[in-house]
Amino acid sequence: MAVDASSSPTVLPWSDRLRHSAIILLVAALALAAVVVLGELSAVRAIAVFICIAAAALVPWRLHDVATSRDDVRRINPVESTAVAAIVAGMPDPAVLLDRAGRVIHLNAAAAELAPALRQNELAQFALRSPEIITALREAIATTEPRRADYLDHVPIDRWMELIITPVPVPTLFGGTDKCMLMTFHDQTPLRRVEEMRADFVANASHELRTPLAALSGFIDTLQGQAKDDPKARERFLGIMHAQATRMARLIDDLLSLSRVELSAHVRPDTLVDLVPIIRQVADGLEALARERQVVVEINLPDPPVMVAGDREELLRLFENLIENALKYGASGGKVIVSLVAVPAGEGAPEIRVLVRDFGPGIAPEHLPRLTERFYRVDVGDSRSQGGTGLGLSLVKHILNRHRGRLLIESMPNQGATFTACFPQVKPPAAV
Ligand code: ADP
Repeated sequence: MAVDASSSPTVLPWSDRLRHSAIILLVAALALAAVVVLGELSAVRAIAVFICIAAAALVPWRLHDVATSRDDVRRINPVESTAVAAIVAGMPDPAVLLDRAGRVIHLNAAAAELAPALRQNELAQFALRSPEIITALREAIATTEPRRADYLDHVPIDRWMELIITPVPVPTLFGGTDKCMLMTFHDQTPLRRVEEMRADFVANASHELRTPLAALSGFIDTLQGQAKDDPKARERFLGIMHAQATRMARLIDDLLSLSRVELSAHVRPDTLVDLVPIIRQVADGLEALARERQVVVEINLPDPPVMVAGDREELLRLFENLIENALKYGASGGKVIVSLVAVPAGEGAPEIRVLVRDFGPGIAPEHLPRLTERFYRVDVGDSRSQGGTGLGLSLVKHILNRHRGRLLIESMPNQGATFTACFPQVKPPAAV
């Protein structure tokens, strides 16, 4: 509520006012002198009249001075000044400055957007909907102590907001201090979401670890009890225990890889690596699995090296996850094709794309957007029986993000699936 200087009454400078008064007094003196000369008025009376005229000319002038000096004080009241308005306007979060009674002095555009009913000079209590805010505001007004409140805002979308009310001492008109209140609002939704994700992650990870652990301790009990002297049962149980222990180790491995990649997410790999031998090494390593699943793996790679800025170990992990998934979940198609293509700049930057295509059952469209979430599986039982952890595609996505690349997933039920890892092409060295 900065006062508009142009709307205040025009104040004449001292010299002008002095000149006006002198003219009035001169005219009065001349007129009185003429009346005295004409004998219509005694000199004593004329002097008395002149004094009255002088007083009439000067006293309102003084009163006007008092009035305008008050006006000046009001204009420079620090809390209403344009400087304070500019500070509130410049605050990045929604901010409202209230007087002691809760009346709005200044508010910024973000606050006006958050609470469109807020108006300068009006009580904020009537413009804010949330009971949490109103309670905090009432308490802050009553106690002039800081208050905070969390609440869920529903308009225009659900957002978790934090309100902080901070009393700010301000100078008053007459030299003392008073307390205004600064209300700031902070969007806590991203933090809450991260917190929820962390809690979900811990719950999922513990659940995933507890399942094989429970199986292991169950079999240990059995081996110590009724199966103690049964060599056949012992063999079978030891086999199952081995599989469960391998699953746990794999889960821990994936969790560690994921956290390592996340830790270095902001550091883009800068060594140049050739993708061709990396893909070949992965395919060779998975030959036994392909044979076991009776899948023919067709590899279409160019002869010359295809260089990208990358981390070799992470790229091995990435292609291993994609090709292994194709062999596990797409085995019924009997064929997996791995190919590499260079895509020239079109709508986006030029890319190197590695496509892993299978001809298995494919994936229903509703699952596609969630496949890279941690622990998300289309069929939990199927994934577990295949030794899956539900972390593979999440790891793939994080590795690609670190390489400034992206993952494309295309699939239709019963028509197989294609997972494409896209990498930015390395710029050729500038000609010297
Ligand atoms: P998992 O360890 O379970 O394999 P991933 O993150 O690698 O975890 O994959 C998540 C889920 O995506 C899998 O459980 C599976 O349901 C589905 N999926 C992945 N690749 C394929 C594929 N090629 N064909 C069909 N479904 C797939």
